[in-house]
Amino acid sequence: MKTIYFVIPCYNEEEVLKETAKRLEEKMESLMENKKISENSRIVFIDDGSKDSTWSIIEELNKLDEKFSGIKLSRNRGHQNALLAGLMTVKEKCDAAISLDADLQDDINVVDKFIDRFIDGCEIVYGVRSDRKMDTIFKRTTAQGFYRVMKVLGVDIVYNHADYRLMSKRSLDELENFKEVNLFLRGIVPLIGFKSDIVLYERNERYAGESKYPLKKMLLFAFEGITSFSVKPIRIVLGVGIVMFLSSLVALIYSLVVWILGKTVHGWTTLVSSVWMLGGLQLLGMGIIGEYIGKIYMESKGRPKFIVEKFINK
Ligand code: UDP
Ligand code: MG
Repeated sequence: MKTIYFVIPCYNEEEVLKETAKRLEEKMESLMENKKISENSRIVFIDDGSKDSTWSIIEELNKLDEKFSGIKLSRNRGHQNALLAGLMTVKEKCDAAISLDADLQDDINVVDKFIDRFIDGCEIVYGVRSDRKMDTIFKRTTAQGFYRVMKVLGVDIVYNHADYRLMSKRSLDELENFKEVNLFLRGIVPLIGFKSDIVLYERNERYAGESKYPLKKMLLFAFEGITSFSVKPIRIVLGVGIVMFLSSLVALIYSLVVWILGKTVHGWTTLVSSVWMLGGLQLLGMGIIGEYIGKIYMESKGRPKFIVEKFINK
């Protein structure tokens, strides 16, 4: 039987925490009764520097029942960091960890499927939303646009998957080797590889409290995702630079021809050709410098170059 840890980052979640704990406990008890997970499994709440009573609720739960554990961060570091803190803290104690949000928007009944896939040998199981009916039109279109942009930029992310997933101890060990500070977990996890699968689920509404991801944070997060994973924006600058420079050559020839034919005002030729030339050269230069910065940027992440899945050696 596998030991499974549920890992739940919480930021000012006093309104939902008790109910979440209750529902998760029920889920866990039924999993234990059906002999799907071991008695050592736990529900771990990470308090991401909340300003309300979140931590005291976690302490209380822990006192009442050993199934509940808590991790308190020294201050608010954001969802992704809080989640990583949880995963890295528990990974030595469990066979796999399942990450989910405190508001239980993600249907917890699919964890059975997560665990089945894990027992079948998957190291990572991604929860994927089957539809976006519950979202506002705005959220739906921006979210889908985001996944599309990421795809165009060559970033390998799982469509409609957020942070609801199961990761085995082994994949968590590999995750630890990604040293980057700007965390965008849903971009990093697919880079780990290994056998993985997706499980579809329906997402509900947050049953109490407010979203801790207001529009501004959401946009910043999307921007983080793009700039942490792709140097294509730099390439675009380089591309525009090349096009500008080439057209400046055409403009130069054109203005020289017009000048030879004597159809110009005095000074026009030099002015026009230098504006185009300089503009093009500057963009080109910036693009080239950008290429090198992009390289330094990628190097500075110190990501693992490969991960061995198997080594057979008689
Ligand atoms: N969260 C966190 N730190 C933060 C912001 C959010 O740990 O700084 C947690 C939050 O408590 C919740 C999860 O991240 O468990 C997702 O947040 P939320 O449900 O508000 O986001 P939404 O579902 O609206 O995108
Ligand atoms: Mg939510």
